[in-house]
Amino acid sequence: MPSLDEKFMARCLFLASKGEGKVSPNPLVGAVLVKNRRIIGEGFHEKFGGAHAEVNALKGKNAKDATLYVSLEPCSHAGKGKKTPPCVPLIIKSGVSRVVIGALDQNPKVSGNGIKQLKKAGIKVKTGVLQRESEKQNEPFFKFITTGKPFICLKMAQTKDGVIGIRGKSNVRISGKQFDAYSRNSAYRQSPPHLPDERRKKPRAHNPGQQAANSPFFKSPGKRKKRESDNRDKRAARQEKAQAA
Ligand SMILES: [Zn+2]
Repeated sequence: MPSLDEKFMARCLFLASKGEGKVSPNPLVGAVLVKNRRIIGEGFHEKFGGAHAEVNALKGKNAKDATLYVSLEPCSHAGKGKKTPPCVPLIIKSGVSRVVIGALDQNPKVSGNGIKQLKKAGIKVKTGVLQRESEKQNEPFFKFITTGKPFICLKMAQTKDGVIGIRGKSNVRISGKQFDAYSRNSAYRQSPPHLPDERRKKPRAHNPGQQAANSPFFKSPGKRKKRESDNRDKRAARQEKAQAA
């Protein structure tokens, strides 16, 4: 059974996910303001350069003695290149008595400072609620902010012997159905969503040998033998003609 803190943090993570694809290189953040076990304010970081989640959740709310849930440690730094003022002073001013945090911000400029400042102001701070999930959500951000390198995901299939095909056969399958689940193209080919049913092509039976034989670049042994014997006949005919003349 998830605790009440975990439930509200799960809501933060859901809200944060709404910013996917719009906040980079900033992190995804969601915030929920709770008073007497009821949500009275919600917010998330909606776009790069826009207000932070905490600001959106606190906006216009009477936060006195409320609890603020945030999926990522609130920012404490201002400075060059940062588009918005730090959230911690605003949280302190709002009058919340407790802050619950999912993941610590690994940004060296924040990394624990946000929590320190909140505690110094007499606010109760709880960390590590759905920490793993919160860290997972911002994996690309953490990678970038701590190493300066992009987060990369590689999908790869390779045969055991390193060979990529069989002579005379095209489309040799080297991966299984699990791979298809991650492959947008193959799912699309099975059922292109924009076509009405009757216009969808039925998936062809997988017969790589036949497909290769139909290819203009493929010369089957049978065809080659026929061509060679044809050429022999022509040559013999030419020689006969020459001798006759
Ligand atoms: Zn902030």
